[in-house]
Amino acid sequence: MNIKNNINNLLQNLPAGCALVAVSKTKPVEQIAEAYAAGQRVFGENKVQEMVPKHEALPKDIAWHMIGHLQSNKVKYIAPFVTLIHSVDSARLLEEIDKQAAKANRIIPCLLQLHIAEEDTKFGFSEDEVLQLFQSTAFAGLKHIQVQGLMGMATLTEDEGQIRKEFHGLKTFFEKLKSSALPSHAMMKELSMGMSSDYKIAAEEGSTLVRVGSAIFGERHYENQK
Ligand SMILES: *Cc1c(COP(=O)(O)O)cnc(C)c1O
Repeated sequence: MNIKNNINNLLQNLPAGCALVAVSKTKPVEQIAEAYAAGQRVFGENKVQEMVPKHEALPKDIAWHMIGHLQSNKVKYIAPFVTLIHSVDSARLLEEIDKQAAKANRIIPCLLQLHIAEEDTKFGFSEDEVLQLFQSTAFAGLKHIQVQGLMGMATLTEDEGQIRKEFHGLKTFFEKLKSSALPSHAMMKELSMGMSSDYKIAAEEGSTLVRVGSAIFGERHYENQK
């Protein structure tokens, strides 16, 4: 397995306007450094306790993206440096991010995670909940977050038609929001969808950020990998 070749192959397969988030969860800093040496600067982690020491150990021009379910009580540890939080799945979490961003004297870019998969285990907003959030006075009062778009995870299935349908639905909602009147601190710029198994479909359906782990670093040999 060659991390540099994997990254270059991926980049060749992605259309213009679709960027690569290298998902380095469970992988050691040595492998991240290898990806860094190949030119990759954007890395995704799903656990605060992994992201913080990696941020400390690695070059400071890395953009760290939080892609996994984030507990409110852990936001404070990443607020000073995180570049983008893909996985905002509740209004309460968004309020906590706003609070910690204020303390860190920053505006933290966020994506709202939509529940698009058939499984009910996945976290996320429904379309109605997003519309309600944008109309709420609580959202209007947030001064230290900026919603930059949406994120979604398709159903884990071999059925490409199903996956495409889910990505297409998310893209359709993204475009609908984009052409509607949004609060000043919400914009529809980034659409985060696609992983190793489905990033090609996601890119075809309009993804601007694919989150790819195993196709770069190889399979993860840990139980707790989601
Ligand atoms: C692990 C993970 C990925 C990457 O998964 P791969 O199949 O290894 O590409 C993408 N998104 C999220 C939210 C993840 O947790």
